[in-house]
Amino acid sequence: MSAAPDLVIGVLLPDVLGTYSDAGNAVVLAQRARWRGIEANVLHLSADTTPPAGCDIYLLGGGEDAAQLFAIEWLAGHKALLRSLSDTATTFAVCAGLQILGHTLTDEQGRNHDGLGLLDLTTAPRRRRAVGEVITRCELPGVGLLTGFENHRGATTLGAGVRPLGQVLSGVGNGATSSGGRGEGAVTDRVVATYLHGPVLARNPALADHLLCRVTGHRFPDADLPDLPDLPDLPDLRRAYLSKTPRRHARFLAHRTPRS
Ligand code: GLN
Repeated sequence: MSAAPDLVIGVLLPDVLGTYSDAGNAVVLAQRARWRGIEANVLHLSADTTPPAGCDIYLLGGGEDAAQLFAIEWLAGHKALLRSLSDTATTFAVCAGLQILGHTLTDEQGRNHDGLGLLDLTTAPRRRRAVGEVITRCELPGVGLLTGFENHRGATTLGAGVRPLGQVLSGVGNGATSSGGRGEGAVTDRVVATYLHGPVLARNPALADHLLCRVTGHRFPDADLPDLPDLPDLPDLRRAYLSKTPRRHARFLAHRTPRS
């Protein structure tokens, strides 16, 4: 019998919130953990399963408005899981995943829907959909610039109980100026949430390592990584994405780009 894994990653509702391939974030987390000698297991917890409450980290991805209302109902029906999301586990949520963790969601007809209330934020439709490449300056220490793409109608207003994940250099992000500045995403002690797809952890390995650090309590310097001769040169790919920024933001490109 094989030993219990050190790290269990639960991908919540990949069949419902899987429109933007955000489940790829689990692949990145698990592989970067394994490269550091951590045994990692990924569980795909689709709508027809009873989700375990004991995963170390749960991932939520993006999806359509109807899909995210279903996701709220499904998650609200699994109380032990919800307690774990609120009290013990780490959650990494993308776009619809971010929105459903908030207090309320307003739909395009102006109807309010209760969210799960794990994040102090609310979401309401923008006039126009936000679609395109985004670059932010991440506020988590050591993470640097984030690159990703956004595709959402919702604009999110942060309350005092969360802080933004980053400040938008290019793109829309949370898109609600009433919440102050040009914030993107939301962070608490238990949750890191963002509008960025990519998958965002593939484009931004330093954010993946931040999550691993949260979950394991260890910092993971790049020097821990093996040589990766068979992979494309990820720092070059990052530079290519980051170079899509308007010229007025080019000075931020001087930031150190973490290795792969
Ligand atoms: N349906 C939500 C919106 O349009 C979220 C979209 C997404 O997850 N990319 O705002």
